[in-house]
Amino acid sequence: MATDDKASGNPASGNAAGGEPGRDFIRDIVQADLDAGRVKAVVTRFPPEPNGYLHIGHAKAICLNFGIAEEFGGRCHLRFDDTNPTKEEQEYIDAIERDVRWLGFDWGKHLYHASDYFERLYGWAEDLIRAGLAYVDDQSQDEIRTNRGTLTEPGKNSPFRDRPVEENLDLFRRMRAGEFGNGARVLRAKIDMTSGNINLRDPVLYRILNAPHPRTGTAWKIYPSYDFAHGQSDAIEGITHSICTLEFEDHRPLYDWCIANLNVPSKPHQYEFARLNLTYTVLSKRVLTELVRGGHVTGWDDPRMPTIAGLRRRGVPPEAIRDFIKRIGVAKANSLVDVGMFEFSVREALNKSALRRMAVLKPLKLVIENYPEGQSEELDAVNHPDNPAAGSRKIKFGRELYIEQDDFMENPPKKFFRLSPGMEVRLRYAYFITCREVVKNAKGEVVELRCTYDPATKGGNSPDGRKVKATIHWVSADHAIAAEVRLYNPLFVKPDPSGAENFTADLNPNSLEVLGGGRLEPALADAKPEVPVQFERQGYFCLDPASAAERLVFVRTIGLRDTWAKDQAKEKA
Ligand code: ATP
Ligand code: MG
Repeated sequence: MATDDKASGNPASGNAAGGEPGRDFIRDIVQADLDAGRVKAVVTRFPPEPNGYLHIGHAKAICLNFGIAEEFGGRCHLRFDDTNPTKEEQEYIDAIERDVRWLGFDWGKHLYHASDYFERLYGWAEDLIRAGLAYVDDQSQDEIRTNRGTLTEPGKNSPFRDRPVEENLDLFRRMRAGEFGNGARVLRAKIDMTSGNINLRDPVLYRILNAPHPRTGTAWKIYPSYDFAHGQSDAIEGITHSICTLEFEDHRPLYDWCIANLNVPSKPHQYEFARLNLTYTVLSKRVLTELVRGGHVTGWDDPRMPTIAGLRRRGVPPEAIRDFIKRIGVAKANSLVDVGMFEFSVREALNKSALRRMAVLKPLKLVIENYPEGQSEELDAVNHPDNPAAGSRKIKFGRELYIEQDDFMENPPKKFFRLSPGMEVRLRYAYFITCREVVKNAKGEVVELRCTYDPATKGGNSPDGRKVKATIHWVSADHAIAAEVRLYNPLFVKPDPSGAENFTADLNPNSLEVLGGGRLEPALADAKPEVPVQFERQGYFCLDPASAAERLVFVRTIGLRDTWAKDQAKEKA
């Protein structure tokens, strides 16, 4: 069985952006199987363990499995590999279903659970015992580990390895009945303790675990190992292409051994691809769980998390994730993808879809001295510069405005073209203004600008060909709504954060920046979660779902440009 090795012989064939879309070595295999008639209808599956939320790495596996099924007219199952009840929870099951749907995929009626197959798996385990291919081992976990040997040393046979079949059957049934404590015994496959592949050194098939299961309750006192459940579940479901990540390549001979020795309804073939790794990001479920439990983030859906739920809350649209996955392609060699590539896809999607609005994140008051007190007017502002169909809106203008603190400098360097004393700039959609005077507080900080406007420049148009070097955004002080604005930076400071043991050392202390005094144009009162708008000149933002009417919170999906990476580089230089 282990001779079918098409995938391993195939070099990396990712379709980097620009390459022919929709082609990679797995799709080539699928096509060849269909052409040769080896496979009539393609059946794939996405098999998450419900022990955490899905992240962007899972999105790669989801897009691959559901994508292939769609493209080749087959089907894709969603199967929970729920063999470890101590780590699995209903919350995760619900979140996984929600997130796969949100990404745009549908399993129809093909929702399955490894736990649906517990009885059949148990029967197959007894078959292996009867065939002399499995035995109950009484060694402790430590002894089993020690006797397994190492990469350079062969393992040692268990003293229980040659138990008679009847004794094995009797003990295994009593394990099932709950007669023994957790860890007292295991069922192991009898393969080869000297195999060069450690996975074949009599792997554990069943362990005693007196723990309730989200689906089967207290029915079971023993649970199959992931390795024993996984391949057989694929066989039961008639999976034609069992697609998984590279770390399971060494497990394939074990899966094939089980399939060859059991009376299963079909024989799946496994193909491995490289998992997604992203710079400044950790995609290990263990670390993500630690981040949540340790309070380093506010939850699985914290917008800084690389989880689907976090990205969604942050305003990343599903099409941006799908586009990114398409661009990086599928290959057989592990690599580290620049998170900038992901951000590119997000900006591409949002630039097209997001309506434009004005918002001031760090307000500085600006008074237009020659604008009549108590007066206001409405100006036209377009909703999307490249999409006339998005229409326009009216924005209120008055004597008192807010502009961004960063758009003013009292003593500007040569190339600063925004507002400074004596300088004329355009207020977007409004008028040309000139700064006449700077008001400071007792500490010497600038707290207000006194300006004049030119009424002849209404709409921001110059009547006499007069040029200004900058256009800045603003909001009307009397009409603006208040909001907290949260800016996010990568959770980790290192491009390649260290492993699970030491991840806290690499956490970015500035991953969240809260701006409490944001002032937004009134149209933003209608903003909806998950529908980002562009705050002009700032980036893409959306309403946080936990926002309340009396305290609006906006989160930054992404800046307009990748300034963070640049700042990092500068710091290093
Ligand atoms: P663990 O097994 O430690 O719980 P996991 O991330 O492998 O973590 P699973 O729920 O087993 O979690 O993953 C489901 C599927 O998603 C598997 O087929 C796995 O290979 C795939 N997958 C997980 N992480 C990535 C990744 N970073 N890139 C691509 N595919 C991934
Ligand atoms: Mg896994």
